[in-house]
Amino acid sequence: MTIAQTKAPVGAPIAAGLTALERFGKLERPDLRYTPEVAEATAPIYEKVKHIIPAIEWPALAPTIHAINKLKKQRNAVILAHNYMTPDIYHGVADIVGDSLQLAIEATRTDAEVIVQCGVHFMAETSKILSPEKTVLIPDMRAGCSLAESITGADVRALRERNPGIPIITYVNTSADVKAECDICCTSSNALQVVESFGVDKVFLIPDKYLAANVGNKTDVEVLVWDGACEVHERFTAEELRDYRKIEPNVKIIAHPECPPEVVAEADFAGSTAHMIDWVKTKRPEKVMMITECSMADNVASETPGVDYIRPCNLCPHMKRITLNKILDTLLEMKEEVVVDPAVADRARTAVERMINLKI
Ligand code: SF4
Repeated sequence: MTIAQTKAPVGAPIAAGLTALERFGKLERPDLRYTPEVAEATAPIYEKVKHIIPAIEWPALAPTIHAINKLKKQRNAVILAHNYMTPDIYHGVADIVGDSLQLAIEATRTDAEVIVQCGVHFMAETSKILSPEKTVLIPDMRAGCSLAESITGADVRALRERNPGIPIITYVNTSADVKAECDICCTSSNALQVVESFGVDKVFLIPDKYLAANVGNKTDVEVLVWDGACEVHERFTAEELRDYRKIEPNVKIIAHPECPPEVVAEADFAGSTAHMIDWVKTKRPEKVMMITECSMADNVASETPGVDYIRPCNLCPHMKRITLNKILDTLLEMKEEVVVDPAVADRARTAVERMINLKI
């Protein structure tokens, strides 16, 4: 997999001192009534979400979905939605869905001038790093992440100083500042292969202590950890999973590797969000429990008829800051723009590209 290279100078419009609103201009707020035209245009979308959104609620959502879909064409914008977005966003307005890295890589392949990142801030930064010529907007700048916030670039520099010669691998859930200080990036899909790619006895895998421990359990390489965790996945417990199995003995349990190792040990399968979705689509279990953020099961359910989802899920409060109304405002007012210092972006991109170029 290769990333489209760009010749455009990183952050050029920012250097010109103009905000995204000044560069693109404001658009008039559209009519948000539920008209027959809106009902007809959004009927195919409702088919995909009717298992989760009651018919009585659709007239309140459909006009905003319809307006966003018209506005994004007007703005030459593409909407990237993480697997944890709510179904109205995931099925209603997204052009590209997936995990954070899939989204950022796919965004480099579009001709769209504007990216609206429906996810959290580090994801928007990753999109900006890989598509520096594009304007990247996030509907709520406060959408953070407990993992990304557990470590700074200065922390990584100090870690390197204290541990000279030990490679530092960063999970993709980190800020651009952190990526810029690390040797290579990884995702939950390829973390094991990245760890083993160095051919050394010892590596740091930061910042998720659970992902690092889960990878460490599968390799002879000593995987050193940072004390970060995902506040959503660390809440699941092995005891809770055992209790569910007593109630539902036929259920297949699949877990994200950001869960504690004892939770992963209780699961039938562990993998990234993309791998979890593939697993359900391929295996088609009668009953499945996705040990991850709530919205994922809601989003996949319409694509896997016949699979019964049991939902012992936890909500990510950061992901849930992104709503249809905020996406609409983003497209109308061109806010809020995600900016990465060009020098930091260059170094962070190197870490991401090293991972991509491993071809694993
Ligand atoms: S689910 Fe966890 S890792 Fe993902 S954004 Fe929320 S806090 Fe961060």
